[in-house]
Amino acid sequence: MPTENAQGELLKVTFTHPMPYDWSIGLYGSRFFQEIKENRRFIGIRCHGCGLVYVPPRRVCGPCFTELTELVPLSDTGVITAFSVVNYPFIDPNTGAQRPIPYTYGYIRLDGADNIFSHIINETDLNRIRVGMKVRAVFRETEKMEGNIQDIRHFQIIG
Ligand SMILES: [Zn+2]
Repeated sequence: MPTENAQGELLKVTFTHPMPYDWSIGLYGSRFFQEIKENRRFIGIRCHGCGLVYVPPRRVCGPCFTELTELVPLSDTGVITAFSVVNYPFIDPNTGAQRPIPYTYGYIRLDGADNIFSHIINETDLNRIRVGMKVRAVFRETEKMEGNIQDIRHFQIIG
């Protein structure tokens, strides 16, 4: 692939491509973030077919294909099931800005739920974080709540 034209200059095409968009998070997604925004509380949804509880709520149970309709309140605490301390900078898809490194991304099983929930854990010292540790959600200041995933600032280790 040529990198220069006949005059020895690189060819380039410059364009601006702003692409703002909105997308629907659905009825249960809306309820999930509304509950966080207004009450600082998680809700999940229970399958009346197999009993599994999912967070965030979804419309159908994957294992048994039952339509899900029973919203249930969940704790703001849970257990770390996996984590990774990230030391490589990249653009955060939630903000469009580079997240300062290091930071820890983790999978958390909220108390009362059967699936895992992913979010930031505010501990990057590998000597102070382990799978199985208890964490609690730390929410944004009330006046800054927006009804999206960033309303949860991070999860904090509590034991
Ligand atoms: Zn089910």
